[in-house]
Amino acid sequence: MQQLAKDLSKIDGLLIKREVDLSPLTTMKTGGVANIFLLPCSISSLEKTLSFLRKNGISFKIFGNGSNLIVAEDPKVVLSLSLLKNLTIKGQSLIAQSGCLIWETIKFCIENGLGGLEPLFGIPGSIGGAVFMNAGAGGISIGNFLSHILLTSEHGSYWKEVDDLTFSYRKTNIPKNCLISAVKFRIDKTQIRQKTKKIYSLLKTRPEQSRKIIQFAMKHRAKSQPIGFPSSGCIFKNPKGTTAWQLITLCGLKGYAINDAQISKKHANFIINRGKAKASDILKLIELTKERVFKETNTLLREEVVIWNDGNKI
Ligand SMILES: Cc1cc2nc3c(=O)[nH]c(=O)nc-3n(C[C@H](O)[C@H](O)[C@H](O)COP(=O)(O)OP(=O)(O)OC[C@H]3O[C@@H](n4cnc5c(N)ncnc54)[C@H](O)[C@@H]3O)c2cc1C
Repeated sequence: MQQLAKDLSKIDGLLIKREVDLSPLTTMKTGGVANIFLLPCSISSLEKTLSFLRKNGISFKIFGNGSNLIVAEDPKVVLSLSLLKNLTIKGQSLIAQSGCLIWETIKFCIENGLGGLEPLFGIPGSIGGAVFMNAGAGGISIGNFLSHILLTSEHGSYWKEVDDLTFSYRKTNIPKNCLISAVKFRIDKTQIRQKTKKIYSLLKTRPEQSRKIIQFAMKHRAKSQPIGFPSSGCIFKNPKGTTAWQLITLCGLKGYAINDAQISKKHANFIINRGKAKASDILKLIELTKERVFKETNTLLREEVVIWNDGNKI
């Protein structure tokens, strides 16, 4: 790994950190240690980094803002786009690089008199992670607002029209060898809606109006979610026709704990870290919940959170 870090240090504009503890970086506050943590400062340094890693057959993981992630291993190489933070308006598009946080992007929209994304304000993700997960709240998903995604691979970067992609429930089907380095949000004068697809644009909005929507959304979150405890948001996707929290509640699992990992009493689809929970406690609780819900309701819950546990387990 020493030699690999030395070779990577030859790439211009690439910040390299060693032995990075991922627990403070994830919202669950658990996790292993990344042996090499890479932070490209520009899209061109990102392209060079990807080219180097792929040419040398080095596998790596992509880290957004760690808000939908349970790290249950010590990953070798982690790539973070958190330094790609440019936000600009060009013609009918707002262009956001992947490292911008959702709230930062919404703040920028408000400063520029644009509204539409406010219901997403409380989602603690980056733009890259949010688009990868097609994050949503308050009846909208981020994918509804996009016109293009800048995809980057070892071969370079290109703008892909979203019409060529599918945004589904907490999923975007970007090509496997690519990552999301920036996106374009549509800006329009009028809302366009198509019957089959929800297509939205950012619209001219008064800042007071945007602030009201944010306040409403945040109040709703504070009422329904265990804000104040580390978590990864919803652990499971909602099965068709029901919600995961209802099924978990039905099985009497609200408040059930394995060490400091506990199924929230406030929202049964959240697992909270009461202090010293380990990733392994959370994984055990996830498995137990799936087994119990399947046994009692014949419904297989599927994880919404992304779990890293294929390397050196911790
Ligand atoms: C308190 C709380 C509330 C939440 N509320 C919501 C909610 O209302 N709605 C909702 O949808 N989610 C919610 N979430 C979950 C989470 O915030 C979202 O899924 C968020 O979009 C994840 O973004 P991230 O940057 O943190 O991604 P990470 O968690 O870091 O990564 C998630 C996945 O995306 C991949 N990824 C990250 N960046 C990129 C990139 N640039 N290119 C390709 N792949 C990438 C990672 O490899 C990983 O597989 C909540 C989480 C918390 C803790």
